[in-house]
Amino acid sequence: MKLLLVEDEKRLAQAVCEILRQENYEVDLCYDGISGSSAAESGLYDLMILDVMLPGKDGFSIVQDVRSLGIRTPILLLTARGELEDKVRGLDGGADDYLTKPFQTEELLARLRALWRRSIPSAGGALTFGDIALEAATASLRCTATGQTVRLGEKEYRILEYFIANQGRILTREQLAVKIWGYDNDAEYNNVEVYLSFTRKKLAFVEAKTTIKALRGIGYELRYEDVSKIQT
Ligand code: CA
Repeated sequence: MKLLLVEDEKRLAQAVCEILRQENYEVDLCYDGISGSSAAESGLYDLMILDVMLPGKDGFSIVQDVRSLGIRTPILLLTARGELEDKVRGLDGGADDYLTKPFQTEELLARLRALWRRSIPSAGGALTFGDIALEAATASLRCTATGQTVRLGEKEYRILEYFIANQGRILTREQLAVKIWGYDNDAEYNNVEVYLSFTRKKLAFVEAKTTIKALRGIGYELRYEDVSKIQT
């Protein structure tokens, strides 16, 4: 699971980072609001921890910009003791939870687990978009219109999961390579093309009208076009 930590107190940031890595989170660390903001806006993360008071750009503004881009990644804000106003402002602005500094490691980890659980849509455990649903328990793809189901490979599942989590957004080949393979190089770019074509075949197999559209030179987008509805 990829996690972004934006915290300008370097010793605290490094200590938290160390703990998270021990817990098998893959952590990227930023020490200021500007680099933190552009990392947050990449849409590559599964969870984000943002300090409120940051040089360059504060945590509230980062949350606002991230949400205005349609990125729904769970965000935990770190606030200083007793800043009640901050907490309210943070949660109103689209953050999911807050933690007051100083905090216990165990509490941070518990909050992150809770955020992660809440972020997974609970409608029968399925992630849905257009006429498709992903079933996590069986790693399968179901077309809600035709009722047909097909098993997905691990990469195919993660590709569709990533698209559904970022619906309405265009994802670049680079983003897919980093998100699914964890790397960003020419070999992974070829993998992206290959696995996108596998995934398209699975969508066609269940006769879904949801497709992965390639936008030349830009990236890919998950689209649902119900032709019968457009014509009537
Ligand atoms: Ca700070």
